[in-house]
Amino acid sequence: MEKAPPLINAMTVDVEDYFQVSAFERYISRDEWDKLPGRVERNTDRILELFAERGVSATFFTLGWVAERYPELIRRIVDAKHELACHGYSHVRVTQQTPKAFHSDATRAKDLLENIGGVEVKGYRAASYSIGASNLWALDVLEDIGFLYSSSIYPVRHDLYGMPEAPRFAFRPCKPDGLLEIPVSTWQLADTKLPCGGGGYFRLLPYTFSKWALMRVNQRDRQPCVFYFHPWEIDPDQPRQSGISVKTRFRHYLNLSRMKDRLSRLLQDFHWGTMESIFLSSASGRLSTPTLERSGKT
Ligand SMILES: [Zn+2]
Repeated sequence: MEKAPPLINAMTVDVEDYFQVSAFERYISRDEWDKLPGRVERNTDRILELFAERGVSATFFTLGWVAERYPELIRRIVDAKHELACHGYSHVRVTQQTPKAFHSDATRAKDLLENIGGVEVKGYRAASYSIGASNLWALDVLEDIGFLYSSSIYPVRHDLYGMPEAPRFAFRPCKPDGLLEIPVSTWQLADTKLPCGGGGYFRLLPYTFSKWALMRVNQRDRQPCVFYFHPWEIDPDQPRQSGISVKTRFRHYLNLSRMKDRLSRLLQDFHWGTMESIFLSSASGRLSTPTLERSGKT
């Protein structure tokens, strides 16, 4: 029997600095950000080099705050034919915002990125996957602003985020021809969805396991994977934050020195492209539009 062609998977980067992660927000106030030594530009440049070496195009969900301070970096991302997408302006979780504040933060970031990058910004990813059952109104806001897709719901159970009842693959939560929600990859074990699309799990688990789980999505589910990581994850020399909890320390600093090597292998073992090229061109006709329980709709 003829083998099916390999699927192209979505490689994504959440462009933010090491001090902007949600786990640190109790320890570092936003007023301090400008005083801290920035490392996002050099780390993202290293990622651009890595992608260029492997011939990979990716989607860069970028903070408006970063774009404002490093406009040349934004232009380098666009010039290298990657997709520029939006990670909000100041990395406030959607669960901590009113619809009005969320609208204004997302609009500010989209406008900034489009003005600096000179391209249309079609995709949005919420800080810490903070869209879920309690605030699905946020998807309507994103559609209203003009985003074509979001990658903000993680369909897993986790202490900080997640909506385990959400579909594992791209779906249209608002209306049949409306905004697409494209979840980060999970693999299914009996009735449970388990994460395999990047973040701390990719650094925690052996590479062979991550590879197996992602392969399973391609081969068993016949679906493209969505993988994500952050520029600070390839930077083992970043300044260490004091006073943080043991759990936060473990999650943030674990295996940073192994990340670059693992990423190289990942880039080599799978085919990669942008969210836009995979999900916005061909998928429109075959996506489901499951109804989600909108308990938190305002
Ligand atoms: Zn983030």
